[in-house]
Amino acid sequence: MTGIEGVFDVLGARAPLAFFATLDATRLAHGYLFTGPAGVGKKTFARRLAQSLLCETPKATLLGYCEHCVGCKLFVAGTHPDFVWSEGTIKIGTQAGSALHDEDLTARDLVRELSLHGYRSRYRVVVLGDVAFATHESANALLKFFEEPPSGVLVILTTSAPGSLLPTVRSRFVELGFSPLPVADVEAVLRKGGVSAEQARIAARVSLGSVTRARAVLDEDGAGIRDASFAWFEHAMRGEPVDSGFLRLDDRSLSGAEKRAQVGELLELVRVGVRDWAASALAGEDVARLADDQRARIARIPARDPQATAALLGAIAEIERIADSNVSAGLVVDYLRVQLAPR
Ligand SMILES: [Zn+2]
Repeated sequence: MTGIEGVFDVLGARAPLAFFATLDATRLAHGYLFTGPAGVGKKTFARRLAQSLLCETPKATLLGYCEHCVGCKLFVAGTHPDFVWSEGTIKIGTQAGSALHDEDLTARDLVRELSLHGYRSRYRVVVLGDVAFATHESANALLKFFEEPPSGVLVILTTSAPGSLLPTVRSRFVELGFSPLPVADVEAVLRKGGVSAEQARIAARVSLGSVTRARAVLDEDGAGIRDASFAWFEHAMRGEPVDSGFLRLDDRSLSGAEKRAQVGELLELVRVGVRDWAASALAGEDVARLADDQRARIARIPARDPQATAALLGAIAEIERIADSNVSAGLVVDYLRVQLAPR
């Protein structure tokens, strides 16, 4: 039996976990809305909750499944008749037919799926991951469901942008927030997935608590946040226009604290870049580097006289103090860029 410990431990789901762990089946609602940043385990949790409900082995708690019963086997094979999984936008549909396990669910399919009772299980679970509704018609399908929900049918929505849902839809759901993961957890997930210790450490630190974002950093093959930060540094030091897009300062799904953490990471890499740049100006090419992979980039930054270099180091210490205060991330980045530019 895969219980709570083994299955639900490394997700950003402490609050939802505590919620479902104490819930018994008679108190299950018809709709749950999982909110929180991308990559913290909302869809994974929804899938495991669904398997827990469809597992046919009797158990004391709501959460947990056996992996051996027919319910579990159908679930894992993606053919459980009482499980519907869809990701992305719900469209207006003209085609009839089953949308079971279809990526492209239409509003008409949704109405149909929501009207059915469990076929083999006492539950029927419909998960709409990263849900968005193309039209009011599709959102209305959900509202209709709540008017007279068939017993045992459960709808789980996940979204990183709950504000984009219609208030009339949102208010029908029990909303549960998923938090960003601690850096150590992201690192552990990456290590389990076969990522090297060094890469996992770097990716986890720039992940803002999101496994998805950490994987994106790794997948981008050198074009991740680390590289974008050093590119930003090079352009700022050369007095050229900088691209701050990778910091996602305009992304309203990120909190102020997340943006400040991202800028803190940029600052740390800038400090590494300045240190390598100043050291190679003093000691030449033979100097030991903190960021050996950035050697070519840093060599493109023109040297400055010792006084200007010392002033720059002082300015960075000052900016780190400012960044620790409540000043907005955007202002810190602007101030940093101005200080790095040649006079
Ligand atoms: Zn089972």
